[in-house]
Amino acid sequence: MINFQLLRDDFPILQRTNRDRPLIYLDSSASSQKPQAVIDAITHYHANEHANIHRGVYELSERASIRHENVREKIKSYINAKHSREIIFVRGTTEAINLVAQTYGRSHFKAGDEIIISMMEHHSNLVPWQMIAKEAGAVLRVIPVTEAGELDLAELQKLISPRSKFIAIAHASNVLGTINPIKEIVKLAHAQKIPVLVDGAQAFPHQTVDVQDLDCDFYAFSSHKAYGPTGIGVLFGKTQLLENMPPYHGGGGMIASVRFANTTYAPVPQKFEAGTPDMAGVVGFGAALDYLQNIGMNNIIAHEKKLLDYASEKLSEISGLRIIGHAQHKLGVISFVLTGIHPHDIGTVLDHEGIAVRAGHHCAMPLMERFQVPATVRVSFGLYNTHEEIDALVSAIHLAKRLFA
Ligand code: PLP
Repeated sequence: MINFQLLRDDFPILQRTNRDRPLIYLDSSASSQKPQAVIDAITHYHANEHANIHRGVYELSERASIRHENVREKIKSYINAKHSREIIFVRGTTEAINLVAQTYGRSHFKAGDEIIISMMEHHSNLVPWQMIAKEAGAVLRVIPVTEAGELDLAELQKLISPRSKFIAIAHASNVLGTINPIKEIVKLAHAQKIPVLVDGAQAFPHQTVDVQDLDCDFYAFSSHKAYGPTGIGVLFGKTQLLENMPPYHGGGGMIASVRFANTTYAPVPQKFEAGTPDMAGVVGFGAALDYLQNIGMNNIIAHEKKLLDYASEKLSEISGLRIIGHAQHKLGVISFVLTGIHPHDIGTVLDHEGIAVRAGHHCAMPLMERFQVPATVRVSFGLYNTHEEIDALVSAIHLAKRLFA
């Protein structure tokens, strides 16, 4: 039995204050806080182990290279990829999606082709497709979202046609918390030989991810939302697709040989990893995965589900408060609006009570339009949150109501 209350002591930032109140951090969907184990791993790396990888012939460099590749192997096992070469280190989810749009997309999409996304996508899984569609003369098609905040799969079936060339879809919504039925979507897509990219930015830190079980072609995620450092993330891609894609960035480390007349490229994953990577970030990400594995994802899922259920119930009792998104399968993410008070004003009142939430469009403007709201307040949980913090949130919302009455 994991004592989640005790785990809070692993996160030094939770000991500090926000506006002279104990910090209540309810913005893990934007970025999670970091346990001491991750901070220590990065510090230890810089103090004792740093050298550029894959280049030096000296021991320090060789050891750094081995450590880097060991983390790749760890991530491969964590998401159950078939091969470690299917794990490409990138800066984060955004870069992973741009990589696929600019390499796979540029070499495959033609005028009249259709790329299917959904109405609940983060701008990171929308704008890159819009950019490449414009360039290729292709068209974006959009799966609608129901009033409950779920994807309308019947509409997806209608959208799929011989013109469909790609589907890019979030595993979980950063606004609604909805967990999408990825396996089902992949089955529908593969029946028509359409590859699927899954934006795993939100799901990866809070769910078990098995890319072979999902059978998706690409899966993108960021370390900083999963208790690891910023600046590092992963693109998983099936070997055959990666091997047939042109490189993204050119530079050192991604070549086999360079002549002025012609350059040949290194095999995957190096083909997509030009330049010196974020080695310290990779070490920190490895430590974050160890941390998560020690707790056990099933324990984390159960804990966060309890927080979600409790918060949903308590927030629903507040008159004038409307929760947006009531999907059957949800992460610990709740978006809401309150009659007569702008979300930014609620965010400001909560801030003065020490509570950090997100207020805005959450990089999902089309979804705001769908629900006819300019913005929402978003509360999102991490493994360190408690029921008492939810009680404090509810009190602070009542305070905001009184202040703006
Ligand atoms: N996709 C989703 C669903 C997200 O929530 C986010 C970030 O909030 C991103 C993509 C972008 O992630 P990053 O900023 O780490 O690249």
